Amino acid sequence: MTRKIFSRPFTQQEAISQEAIDAATEVMRTGRLHRYNSIEDELSQASMLEQEYANFQDSRYCLACTSCGYALSITLKAAGLEPEEYVLTNMYTLAPVPGAISSAGGRAIFVEINENLVLDLDDLVQKATSSGARFLLLSHMRGHIVDMNKLMRIVQEKNLILIEDCAHTMGAKWGQKKSGNFGLASCFSTQTYKHLNSGEGGLITSDNSEFMARTIILSGSYMFYERHGAAPEAEVFSEIRLQTPNYSGRMDNLRAAILRPQLKSLEKNIERWNKRYQIIEQKLQKVTGVVLPERPEEEYYVGSSIQFRIPGISNTKAAKFIETNKQLGVEIKWFGSDEPTGFTSNHKSWKYIEHQNLGNSDTILAGLFDLRLPLTFSLNDCSLLSDIISECVQECLSDGSKVN
Ligand SMILES: *Cc1c(COP(=O)(O)O)cnc(C)c1O
Repeated sequence: MTRKIFSRPFTQQEAISQEAIDAATEVMRTGRLHRYNSIEDELSQASMLEQEYANFQDSRYCLACTSCGYALSITLKAAGLEPEEYVLTNMYTLAPVPGAISSAGGRAIFVEINENLVLDLDDLVQKATSSGARFLLLSHMRGHIVDMNKLMRIVQEKNLILIEDCAHTMGAKWGQKKSGNFGLASCFSTQTYKHLNSGEGGLITSDNSEFMARTIILSGSYMFYERHGAAPEAEVFSEIRLQTPNYSGRMDNLRAAILRPQLKSLEKNIERWNKRYQIIEQKLQKVTGVVLPERPEEEYYVGSSIQFRIPGISNTKAAKFIETNKQLGVEIKWFGSDEPTGFTSNHKSWKYIEHQNLGNSDTILAGLFDLRLPLTFSLNDCSLLSDIISECVQECLSDGSKVN
């Protein structure tokens, strides 16, 4: 029997459009790459991106900066995080999230997740109570959105300051409300593997004028805050500009220029991602031993990646499952691995943070697999890769008498 082989790279994004390339070329022709290097009352590309993103997000203010990790860090600072203060966050997230808490001087307290890969709200209530933490940095990891109605009740009861990490939920919604519009502020990534691609980049949105004035000064705006596209009135800065340090992390005009045309295609791309997601979801749902996270009706997600679980799989079998898929061209990530690999790691590898016991979530992660879905995959590619995964699951689970 000749086996099906998948031959597309999992890390290949779509090309930057000609419109975006032309916009970038135009910036280079002027030589005015720095966001404050504008002439007369010319609005810089970075400022226009801020206006357009604020508009898209339906928020009053927006700041463009160097990365989402940087955005999270200055957001915590601007929200008033004190040195050594606790910040509640998801145990299932990417390394830049605990990293941002650390760089802002805080200490992460990990909240467990449930089988649908979102925060365990009982654990949140318990840890908010026992720690007295003021901050919740909610990471919508891999685009899974917790029940925001229930979450907001807890946020109010416990008087938490909510910051959303929307690296995977740019364009997503809970009910009618965009992900990112629930708390004090939200951070987005424009790193190559997220929903817009400028190589690196971050966006912060908020409706709070004083908070936003602080983030703008923190981002390194010197006294050019009036040259921002979606910023509070100048009066708001009068004290803040002198009391806030400069942590230099501005976005440049070149990146902003290639992001603006991409933003116009985001809604269309979300539909394209979701078609791909649903093909794989439907196929994998039929495979015995595989469990897909439930996606509630209120959640309008962006299927730019897909996760599935094989509950009870042993570490040896999981490693073998990954290896067999890899040989057939399917790159699967595993959050249960003892060793951090590539972009994937888990809380046990973040040894600069005091060890925390997260047994329930560790069990979930031990059987959790993850695939990126770049838009360079066709619908047929998605169908083919689901077939390969299905065969590998069957082989892996039938090999030996028991899963364990
Ligand atoms: C990528 C990512 C970040 C950080 O984004 P960068 O722009 O690379 O700093 C934060 N949170 C999550 C969940 C991410 O996936």
